[in-house]
Amino acid sequence: MTLAIIAAMHEELAAVLERMADERRERVAGRDFWVGHLGGRNVVAVLSGIGKVAAATTATLAIHRFGAQALLFTGVAGGLGEGVRVGDLVVATELLQHDMDASPVFPRHELPLYGVSRLRTDGAMSQRLLQAARSVAADAARVLGTDTLAAFGIGTPAVHDGLIISGDRFVSTSAESVALRRELPDALAVEMEGAAVAQVCHDHGLPLAVLRTISDRADDQAHVDFTAFVQEVARRYTVALVERYLAAGG
Ligand code: SAH
Repeated sequence: MTLAIIAAMHEELAAVLERMADERRERVAGRDFWVGHLGGRNVVAVLSGIGKVAAATTATLAIHRFGAQALLFTGVAGGLGEGVRVGDLVVATELLQHDMDASPVFPRHELPLYGVSRLRTDGAMSQRLLQAARSVAADAARVLGTDTLAAFGIGTPAVHDGLIISGDRFVSTSAESVALRRELPDALAVEMEGAAVAQVCHDHGLPLAVLRTISDRADDQAHVDFTAFVQEVARRYTVALVERYLAAGG
């Protein structure tokens, strides 16, 4: 049973690779796939690429070239839901492509010919991921260090689960995030890959879990340095999360 660990950011992947003792690299379609073991599991770790097409291609290759039978996606996202703050963790229960619009032929957001707009993640994997996220959040001072928490203005990180939305757009204005909130009031976070990977997993009948660390509020107050956030916060969260997730049975 091979688990694909798909990371959105280079820093997160590097942290996962540091924990894989025996990884070997295989390059396919301009992507480096790292095949090895982690926490006693067969793992293929790879960078997703940014955006829906890149992520869907990566997921498809992980399945067909590397035999992935379950997929775990980690990355950062903009917080949309009220009370979803920088430094919080969000586990997706369902994913939607917010820029999918084949109306009036199909209802807005519906995946044409699928008859649905929202795709669910795997319940059992997501429960284990949620437990791992709660354990990491409770331990944030140790995982990140109190200086880092203070530097990024993170208090006690919260863990949320619910809808994550994806689209080929970095949402960086308040006007855009207000519009998305109005359209999809239950969306907790916005990113650029998750719902595309969910569609690939749906097509193959394979289980998926998605974890996002909130790096920004998807608005025009760029109050965190994105690169520094990924390096200092997301990278450390990711590796702690993946380890705890695998220790709980993956
Ligand atoms: N400024 C960054 C942009 C990276 S793209 C850079 O130069 O590196 C943003 C990545 O983070 C994508 O993988 C996306 O999934 C996620 N993301 C984080 N915040 C987001 C937001 N507000 N809107 C959309 N995607 C976001």
